[in-house]
Amino acid sequence: MSIENDVPDSALSEPFDEESTSVTNETGSVDSRQLELPKSVQPIKADQFQLIFIVLLHILALLAFIPWFYSMAGFLTGIVSVFVFAMMGINIGYHRLLTHRGFSCPKWFEHALALLGVCMLQGSPARWVAIHRLHHKYSDEQADPHSPFVSAYWGHIGWLFVRNREFYEINNFERYVRDLLRDPFYLMLEQKLLWFWIYCFHAFLFFAGGYAVGWYVTGNFDGSVQMGFSLLVWSVFVRTIFVWHCTWAVNCISHLWGYQNYKTSDNSRNNWLVSLFAHGEGWHNNHHAEQMSASHGHLWYEFDLTWWVIWSLEKVGLVKNVVRPRCWKVY
Ligand SMILES: [Zn+2]
Ligand SMILES: [Zn+2]
Repeated sequence: MSIENDVPDSALSEPFDEESTSVTNETGSVDSRQLELPKSVQPIKADQFQLIFIVLLHILALLAFIPWFYSMAGFLTGIVSVFVFAMMGINIGYHRLLTHRGFSCPKWFEHALALLGVCMLQGSPARWVAIHRLHHKYSDEQADPHSPFVSAYWGHIGWLFVRNREFYEINNFERYVRDLLRDPFYLMLEQKLLWFWIYCFHAFLFFAGGYAVGWYVTGNFDGSVQMGFSLLVWSVFVRTIFVWHCTWAVNCISHLWGYQNYKTSDNSRNNWLVSLFAHGEGWHNNHHAEQMSASHGHLWYEFDLTWWVIWSLEKVGLVKNVVRPRCWKVY
C-alpha cells in the first residue's frame, strides 16, 4: 500500500525487516549526514500565522516571571494540564491513535482525545498527522519536514517558521490523511480554522474558571481577576510553550543523541531525558522501528508513562486491539 492510498505505510504497517525488530541495544555513533532544506519549502517564504503565534505565545508565557500572575492554584493546574492535554491529547490522541492506530476505541473517546490535542496549539489533527506520517516515510532524508540533519535549529523550531507547500493547505496534505478526513468531525475542525478557535475558547475557559474560583475564595473583583490570569498564564501559556519544546525535542534531540535498540534507516535514538519530559515519546528509536506499537518503551527500564495510561484504559475496557512491541513476546 502506498502513501497515496487511503492509509499510509508509515501509519499502519511495519516497514522494517526482521533484523530491525531484534533488540540489539547498540549505542552507535552520531550520524554525520548533512541534508538540504526540503524542496517543498524552497524558495523560502515565511509562514506568518505560525511565526506570529509562536512568538506571541513565548512573550505571553514570560508573564510567568511577574509575581502578580502567580498563584499556587495556577501552578498546580498547569502541571495537571500538561498530563491532560499533552499526554492524553498529543501522545495518546494525535500520535499513537490517529497517526499510527496503535489501538482502537469508541469514536466519542477518539474525538475527545483529538479535542484535548487541539488545546495544545500544535495544529489541527489532520495536519499534525499528515506532517508526522511524512516524517516517518522520509525520516532524516531531504523530504523529512523537520530533520535535525539540516541543522539542530531547523529540526527544533526553524521548520515551523517557513511555509511547507506539502502542508500549507488541506488540498496539499489531504492525501496523507484520507482515513481521518473520511470522518466529518476532522473535516469540520479544518473549516475556518475551527481548531484554532477551540484553542482560544479553552484559554478563555481557564480564565473564567480561575475567575470563579477567585470570587469564591476572595469575594472581590481584584482577587478574582488575579486568579483568572494566574490560571491563564500558567495553565495555558506556560503549558503550551513547555509542551511545544518537549514535542520539538522529540523531533530534534531524539534524532541526534541517545542509544539505538534497532538498526533503522534513520538516526532515531532513545533518549531518556526527552522521554522524561515527553512522557515516553523519547524512546524514539523503538518507535521508528515499530511505529504501530502503543508502547514506546520496549525494555524494562524504558519507562513510558503514556503506555501505562493506555494499559489502564485497556484494563477498564475503553480501548482495545492494543498493539504491543514484538520483543515482548520473547520475554
Ligand atoms: Zn522521528
Ligand atoms: Zn510516530
